Amino acid sequence: AAKELGKSRWVEYGPELDAHAVEHAQVAAELSQALDRDELFVLYQPIVGLPDGEVRGVEALVRWRHPTRGLVSPVTFIPVAERTGLIVPIGAWILRSACAQGARWARELGPLAPWKISVNASARQLLEPSFVATVASTLADTGLDPTRLTIEITETAVFGGGRALDTVRALHALGVKIALDDFGTGHSSLGLLRTCPVDVLKVDKSFVDGVTGTVEQEAIATSISEIAQALRLEAVAEGVETAAQADRLLELGYHLAQGFHFARPLPADEIAPLCTHPAVPNLTH
Ligand code: C2E
Ligand code: MG
Ligand code: MG
Ligand code: MG
Repeated sequence: AAKELGKSRWVEYGPELDAHAVEHAQVAAELSQALDRDELFVLYQPIVGLPDGEVRGVEALVRWRHPTRGLVSPVTFIPVAERTGLIVPIGAWILRSACAQGARWARELGPLAPWKISVNASARQLLEPSFVATVASTLADTGLDPTRLTIEITETAVFGGGRALDTVRALHALGVKIALDDFGTGHSSLGLLRTCPVDVLKVDKSFVDGVTGTVEQEAIATSISEIAQALRLEAVAEGVETAAQADRLLELGYHLAQGFHFARPLPADEIAPLCTHPAVPNLTH
């Protein structure tokens, strides 16, 4: 797996790879100081309406500017943060940054503000007994309306029920929206859509990549669109890189998309100029 992930050398290691284990320990140690040293920051990637491309919301994506390693991808350091438990304080900081930014946009841009702020939560965070209280107090402190916050979780995190599922139900009871991220790639079961409160399906890039191919290649994106419509869920197509994909996704029934074709993850101050239309809640279904 480490090979597939290319540059993310810290992600997986066996007992024989002591050097990697040592490096992992060092990354973990450095990561524990990253917050205090102001090395973490949050970018925001627009989630846009199809076909207009208007900004409906943003997804918060964390970055680590390491003093010597340079910019470190979350694909590399989030797994380390999960294993060490550092994701709990780091995740709380990301959530607070994103909610504060969302409330600031709402104040400064009014109806033009990105309507929804999406924040990723890892499985480890959902198992933390204090997570719901953290979300509730963050919303209260920042003044962000709970219905404007979307928590992105993976199917794998809630598969099997237990405390993670209880957490998601409690978040939903606060009014927060729940999105299933990378939908279709996890330990998914459609039964999850009955037991877990879900508002949004985020269709994984691997399926979006297929929509300009054969009927077989686009079949999963087609099916997910149909499931979303039948269950009255929003569907967001992730990783849209070309106009041809965007056109085809619209034909398949998608009304929301995210990807480099529209915008990359951007610093907060580069979002406002993109918000030129009222970002009313999506009511297409
Ligand atoms: P994700 O939540 O599925 O986020 C979408 C990822 O796809 C982001 O990568 C984004 O930059 C990338 N992306 C968006 N559009 C395109 C596109 O058109 N083409 C390609 N090739 N990629 C695109 P990023 O920011 O590197 O994050 C990777 C993953 O790391 C995220 O996947 C998420 O699982 C995790 N992550 C990022 N930020 C956070 C965070 O704040 N908290 C937690 N727990 N996990 C995070
Ligand atoms: Mg996500
Ligand atoms: Mg995703
Ligand atoms: Mg993904």
